[in-house]
Amino acid sequence: MNLVMLGLPGAGKGTQARLIAQKLEIPTVSSGDLFREHDKKNTELGILARDYMLQGAYVPDDVTIRMISEWVSSQDGSKGFILDGFPRTINQAEALDEMLSNYGGLDMAIYIDISVTEATNRISTRVLCSVCQSPFSLLDGVKEGDPCNSGDGGVIYQRPDDKPVAVEERIKVYSRETQEVVQYYRTRDNLKTVLGSISIDEVKHEIINAIKSLENKKYGINRGSM
Ligand code: AMP
Repeated sequence: MNLVMLGLPGAGKGTQARLIAQKLEIPTVSSGDLFREHDKKNTELGILARDYMLQGAYVPDDVTIRMISEWVSSQDGSKGFILDGFPRTINQAEALDEMLSNYGGLDMAIYIDISVTEATNRISTRVLCSVCQSPFSLLDGVKEGDPCNSGDGGVIYQRPDDKPVAVEERIKVYSRETQEVVQYYRTRDNLKTVLGSISIDEVKHEIINAIKSLENKKYGINRGSM
């Protein structure tokens, strides 16, 4: 199964990508996490991406496509993978079609649909673990500097681009660019839309059910209850 996750910042793409990847035992990668790793290590890609990220703008397509294509070619691809946060532009979607031509193509684009108001509220109260990147909410009494409750030694922090000015820009650029990508997959009939306002568990079940029926239809696999 080759899957991509689409949705506004804060829709829950990362959370669902991790849950689904665990269930299907396939790798997943977030383009944002990859950029943050490159940034930390001061690589050429990290330096190229840094300023765009801080402003909440998209990193240029050639840089982003290069980074994802390196990741895809480092995978054996036998069971598939989940890309979280890529593609976000039509150019990237077309480049992905090409990248996946040796990997059986894209099976499904999963679009987690939340409103702009909900996205803004979630992001402004979102903090993350510096190690496992699990999200927490300031509304639950978690504070920056707290240790992560998973015991991985991570510390809770707020992403610099989760501050209000960058968030506004990220939402604007998403509405301009990524809505077109949603439409791109809708017209190709491989889009699964899930409402992101229901619980994390319900979103996960909807996605798993959609994957099961696709596997059944395309490959004749029946996993029963997953
Ligand atoms: P995210 O963690 O997904 O919110 O991504 C953080 C930042 O990384 C974004 O605001 C962009 O600056 C950059 N980024 C991540 N994925 C992409 C992408 N597919 N295309 C362009 N920029 C990206």
